[in-house]
Amino acid sequence: TVGMIARDSSGAITAGCATSGMQFKSVGRVGDSPIVGAGLFASGSGAAVASGDGDKLIRFCLAFLTVERMKTGHSAIEACRHTISRVKAVDPTCQAAIAAMSADGEVGAASTHDGFNVVVWRDGMKHSEIRPVKGE
Ligand code: ASP
Repeated sequence: TVGMIARDSSGAITAGCATSGMQFKSVGRVGDSPIVGAGLFASGSGAAVASGDGDKLIRFCLAFLTVERMKTGHSAIEACRHTISRVKAVDPTCQAAIAAMSADGEVGAASTHDGFNVVVWRDGMKHSEIRPVKGE
């Protein structure tokens, strides 16, 4: 899954994601990626995008949970870590990753496993910055 969050200079924020679905997916499988609240969510409090074992992750509403956490005053990284801890507490083998941006443009991410990257590009940067996310 490739999740995207964009924020313009006026502070408008949006999220999107694209996925090929999990390997060997069954016919008719939907997964979490196209489900608003699960795979992606954006509001005035920020935005979040999720990746991982979509069949299991749908029930956690990862993207919504992360944005709600930012809404209550937590930073993007705190919100992402909280979300991942919720998944791990229920299903320690489930693979999950979440990336978020707060309303003021702060970026955070967390993952259950190594191998997930966040790419950040801001106006004025010559090159994007790749941030590997260490598994929690
Ligand atoms: N979450 C995606 C899905 O289940 C898979 C992925 O993130 O790679 O469709």
